Amino acid sequence: MIIQKFIKGPLGNNNYVVIDEESHEAIIIDCTQNPQDMLDFINSKSAKLKYILLTHGHFDHILGLNELSDDIIQKAYVHENDKFLLDNINEFMDFIHFPHVIAPKINHFFNEKTPLFLGKNPIQIISTPGHTPGCVCFLIDDNLFSGDTLFYHSRGRTDMPKSSEKELLNSLKKLFSMLPEGTYVFPGHGQKTTIAQEKILYHF
Ligand SMILES: [Zn+2]
Repeated sequence: MIIQKFIKGPLGNNNYVVIDEESHEAIIIDCTQNPQDMLDFINSKSAKLKYILLTHGHFDHILGLNELSDDIIQKAYVHENDKFLLDNINEFMDFIHFPHVIAPKINHFFNEKTPLFLGKNPIQIISTPGHTPGCVCFLIDDNLFSGDTLFYHSRGRTDMPKSSEKELLNSLKKLFSMLPEGTYVFPGHGQKTTIAQEKILYHF
């Protein structure tokens, strides 16, 4: 499996391309802006884009979809509980004092039970509400893509509308109890870490 990180946008978002070399299927995780280099990377590996999976509905993880063609946008998925963020995106832009934007037209909404695969590998959707109600982490093999839920020695903000510190802590508890300590963590911002390195910072 190939995992390539692309750092994007003014907030230093991590977007990831994950490629299964056996099936030549590829996914993009989060789409901040200027996604063409990720498509070029996928092409350079002779792979085919299957899904664009979004860890949550905040603007800095999704707006790059607007730069893609309609048939590629059709591959985008976000959790059903973050649909409201897309429908009311400019309320959030007002909250953070950023200019208004146009929400991308996402047509696929998943929940924890939605079956997704990269080649033969299941992509497990782990619901981790707190930063937003529809925040998820994606687990592929022993790699966790944690969005804005878990960062290197930090965690997502919960001072925003519909955020919940209590829910975020419950989500971290869930991750730490279900995942082996050696699980690699690829966050939505900042450097890579492991479950073991983050778990020791909490007393659950
Ligand atoms: Zn966020």
